[in-house]
Amino acid sequence: MKEYTQKFDVVVVGAGPAGASSAIIFGQNGISTALLDKKNFPRDKTCGDGITYKAKADLIKLGVLDEIEKSAPFKVNGYSLIFSDNSKLKFEFADNKESQIYIISRNEFDNILLKKAMEYKSVHFLPEIEIKKLADDFKGVVSKNNETIHAKTIIDATGYNSILGQHNREVHKNALAVRGYYENLTGLDKTVEIYFTSSVSPGYFWIFPTSDSSANVGCGTFINIVEKKSLNLKAILQDFIENHPIASQKFKNAKLEGRIEGGKIPLAFGNFDWSRVTNNLISIGDAGGFVNPITAEGISYAIKTGILAAEVVSKAIKNNCYTEKELKKFDALWLKEFSNQYKSGDIYTESFSKELVSKYFISNFQKNLEDKDLSNVSDIYEYMVKLKVISKSLK
Ligand SMILES: Cc1cc2nc3c(=O)[nH]c(=O)nc-3n(C[C@H](O)[C@H](O)[C@H](O)COP(=O)(O)OP(=O)(O)OC[C@H]3O[C@@H](n4cnc5c(N)ncnc54)[C@H](O)[C@@H]3O)c2cc1C
Repeated sequence: MKEYTQKFDVVVVGAGPAGASSAIIFGQNGISTALLDKKNFPRDKTCGDGITYKAKADLIKLGVLDEIEKSAPFKVNGYSLIFSDNSKLKFEFADNKESQIYIISRNEFDNILLKKAMEYKSVHFLPEIEIKKLADDFKGVVSKNNETIHAKTIIDATGYNSILGQHNREVHKNALAVRGYYENLTGLDKTVEIYFTSSVSPGYFWIFPTSDSSANVGCGTFINIVEKKSLNLKAILQDFIENHPIASQKFKNAKLEGRIEGGKIPLAFGNFDWSRVTNNLISIGDAGGFVNPITAEGISYAIKTGILAAEVVSKAIKNNCYTEKELKKFDALWLKEFSNQYKSGDIYTESFSKELVSKYFISNFQKNLEDKDLSNVSDIYEYMVKLKVISKSLK
């Protein structure tokens, strides 16, 4: 059994957006950090690749915005919503960076963050180390090859399938989504396209353009609905591409590059406010179930939780006080940041402040999902997204 002789202040397990963002903050604070991943980078992660305006301030803080802009030269600046009756709502925001949406492959995006983290002397990236458990004394982690990496605190950034932290993986709180990359599309503009149809509902299809003729295309819905209705999302996506009255026109000469891949998404839904801190372990990003429950956006939440956790841990280490009580300050910070969004989606926080209305929709939505009565859920979901996008356009 190999022991890493170096004792780190912190070990960050998982170098996706959550873990790499944490590592950058640790680097900025001079905290000795082991950043581990079971894979070497660059590596792909199945995703829609859409990064919204919510991430912008944090990308600046992490020092990577310029690099991201260079890697996503196609400027996407709005939303097109196509509803089940084929009616369309299109919002194009003023051409400023504030509302820009970056569509950038995770291969590239995650590697930009990782490279930035590796610029800091105190951050050590250790690739191809798969962690299987916490060390017996909770002061580090143990790999599949039985290597122990010692650290005072541990950040779990291992994504949906985390085995380290606590989880909230009830099927009605998680989504399943598939996506593929298509070339030779026609009729794309500079908006992300979201389609609602009865074949995945609640949920949506997306066309996220990466140029005027290429896009990341996918669809997703709740796992319990996939199971209850025995849905084959890959076949449903193919049917959408071939037969949707509006979308199919864009795919007449389109070609799939690579394969359609799928992945699970942990939504911060229902009882979302469980503690993400146990002993000296903090769960961030998908490992902590931090994805927006209405839109399934997770990247900006992974980045934000990575930053907040690293700020709390940096302070604890500098004060030599890394007790559970001290680390639980992370819970207060993310609750302050996200709980309104998680409670009622962005409608509640951004829109018309019609608290009673949004509460009514959200509570109905949740109740119907939990009771597995799906009849009412689709309409409510469509309505919620409509309100969310309208509210953003009025800002
Ligand atoms: C089909 C699909 C489409 C999506 N579309 C979007 C979108 O358009 N926009 C958006 O914002 N979000 C989207 N999401 C959600 C988004 O992908 C996640 O929220 C985001 O990747 C979370 O980042 P993370 O760093 O927490 O985890 P991850 O990106 O999953 O990174 C986890 C890292 O941990 C490593 N790891 C895992 N286990 C171990 C282990 N035992 N030991 C060592 N390393 C380990 C992995 O190799 C990986 O590098 C989508 C998700 C899916 C599935």
